[in-house]
Amino acid sequence: MNFTLQQVLIPATQGYDTVDVQIVDGRIAAIAAHLEVIGTTVDGRNKLLLPGFINAHTHSSEMWQRGLIPPVPLELWIAELYDFTPLHPEQIYLSALGTAVETLLSGGTTVVDHLVLIPGQEIATIAAAVKAYREIGIRAFIAPLIQDQELDTGLPTGGRSKETSVYHRSTDATLAILQQAIDQFHHPEQGIAIMVAPTGPQLCSDALFTGCIELSDRYHLGRHLHLLETQAQKLLAQEKYGYSAVEHLKHLGFLNHRTSLAHCVWLDEADIEILAATQATVVHNPLSNLRLGSGIAPILKYQQAGVNVTFGCDGAASNDSQDLLEAIKIGSILHNVTDLDYRHWLTPRQAVEMASLGGATGLGMANELGSLAVGKQADLVLYDLTSLSLLPRTDPIGLLIWGRPTAAIESVWVRGEQIVAQHQVTTIDVPALRHQLFSQSQWHTERQSPTVKQFEAHYRSVMGLPAL
Ligand SMILES: [Zn+2]
Repeated sequence: MNFTLQQVLIPATQGYDTVDVQIVDGRIAAIAAHLEVIGTTVDGRNKLLLPGFINAHTHSSEMWQRGLIPPVPLELWIAELYDFTPLHPEQIYLSALGTAVETLLSGGTTVVDHLVLIPGQEIATIAAAVKAYREIGIRAFIAPLIQDQELDTGLPTGGRSKETSVYHRSTDATLAILQQAIDQFHHPEQGIAIMVAPTGPQLCSDALFTGCIELSDRYHLGRHLHLLETQAQKLLAQEKYGYSAVEHLKHLGFLNHRTSLAHCVWLDEADIEILAATQATVVHNPLSNLRLGSGIAPILKYQQAGVNVTFGCDGAASNDSQDLLEAIKIGSILHNVTDLDYRHWLTPRQAVEMASLGGATGLGMANELGSLAVGKQADLVLYDLTSLSLLPRTDPIGLLIWGRPTAAIESVWVRGEQIVAQHQVTTIDVPALRHQLFSQSQWHTERQSPTVKQFEAHYRSVMGLPAL
């Protein structure tokens, strides 16, 4: 549908401009004062228009376990997560909708779903997420989370030999699933794309990486993975490769301008140089890194080295929400405590650019998304500057990034289609979604993860913690 936004505020090099914006066939056709009206009129007065942000790393089905897993580090947290992972595609569908609603209502127009697959129902899992994202209309990059090594191989051995169990699916079978997902669901022109997404070096063989690289090259797919999220993963990479995981990914040829790397907490100077040289993108997940005690990613160093950085919420079981504005706020002010030189600190405008253009760049979509520019696709968010949380009037972007915006998102368009109007998602029945999430879950007061019990003593020993 074509439309013209009238008298809307947009950021200018200095301050803000009031302009009209024409949207024709899903793209921005013109931005200037006093344009002729094409299509319907949208009143932009007292509103701020920004490009949609990208929730550049999440796992939608973790929504079923948010607010629940005790405060433990990633290696134990994930053991509990997998013990109780959802096993029905219907749950995948509902949590993908929930993830999309929360992303849209916190400024996001694109989600990168590093999707945990139900064993034996892998394609049904992907189909359920695709169905949800198509229905709601958010742009989605679905990155089926794959590995070919068992969870216990993800822990450093500390020099002790241990028996490792064999993963339930072969590397070839995993790659065949990915091929099927590409054949069935990869339709970037319709807003749904598949990515290759080995979970991370800690649980993946070189053969799996190589297979992913081949698929990525053949179908022009983005590449995604977790990288050096915890200190334990850094230790493990030393044990596994004898040198850094980043160095190893470079040798394999996995890093390029369409590779986005979630977390990147434990990289050293040489690793950072590799990311800059290969043009890979870092996805900063500050809330998850704090929640799991993983550490503070050296985001200011990445920026100074010329590495592209964007933001993600990470899955809702380690955050425990999908509020993208919250992740952007914490992810930009957190680094003030890491560098005394305040001239390096991130400004709200830099944060907006990281969340929009930075995210688009990491997906190889910088020519199509991420800024208000003529010719780009109309993935847009309109903020209501009369919302109580954005008053009194000072600086709109400062209020949005440093404040705690509530009911601030008035409209959202993806590919020029309106999917949020008057603060409400219009494409799906949100009260019905709430009802289903409520009725298909229960309050938990106590649950015990058998795998955490099994891992804990070994984890404490290799990390130098006192025995229990
Ligand atoms: Zn993750």
